[in-house]
Amino acid sequence: MRILFFGPNGSGKGTQGSIVKDKYNIPHIESGAIFRENISKGTEIGKKAKEYIDRGDLVPDEITIPMILGRLQADDCANGWLLDGFPRSKEQAVKLDEALKEANMALDVVIEMILDRQIAKNRIMGRRLCENDNNHPNNIFIDAIKPDGDKCRVCGGALSARSDDQDEDAIDKRHNIYYDTDTGTLASAYYFKAIAEKDGSLKYVTLNGEPSVPEVTEELVGKLG
Ligand code: AMP
Repeated sequence: MRILFFGPNGSGKGTQGSIVKDKYNIPHIESGAIFRENISKGTEIGKKAKEYIDRGDLVPDEITIPMILGRLQADDCANGWLLDGFPRSKEQAVKLDEALKEANMALDVVIEMILDRQIAKNRIMGRRLCENDNNHPNNIFIDAIKPDGDKCRVCGGALSARSDDQDEDAIDKRHNIYYDTDTGTLASAYYFKAIAEKDGSLKYVTLNGEPSVPEVTEELVGKLG
């Protein structure tokens, strides 16, 4: 099962993505998380990417595209993957489409989470990362996933906020990129939507990101079938 997951930063895409990953037993590949791991390990990619990430800009394609396409060739991707955070521009969508065709691989599902921009922004500013697992959902502004005091609600691990999550200019830039239907992330989602409209083997699923986490999960699981 090969799945693309689109949604603005703050839509709960990471939380829902981890549920989809478990359902199909496929790796959850998050471009942003791969960059953060490279930054914390001090790799060459991390050093190059950091300044772009801190500003909320896209990391240049010559770094991002080979990094992601290379990751999709790893052994754990043999049965598929859930790709989250890539593609983020029309250009990346075209490159991904070409690479998949070349490798004789087909996409099965594209999920688009829909959420109002202001709601997404409030959610970003409330989210906290667990030191033990990025996928442990914690958000100080959402009752269902409120941390346990200042600790992770799932495992009790220490929590921190991403610096690019506390910077309004960086959030606005990331959302400008996401909501751009000409060349940005929505343009790349719509690139695959157009393919799905012509080719019945690709399913394009839209999801309302506004309700509570379990309600969104219910809609998602129902639509995935
Ligand atoms: P995220 O965790 O998805 O919010 O990503 C954090 C940051 O990583 C973004 O603001 C970008 O700077 C960078 N990034 C993640 N995915 C991509 C991508 N597909 N292309 C370029 N930069 C990316």
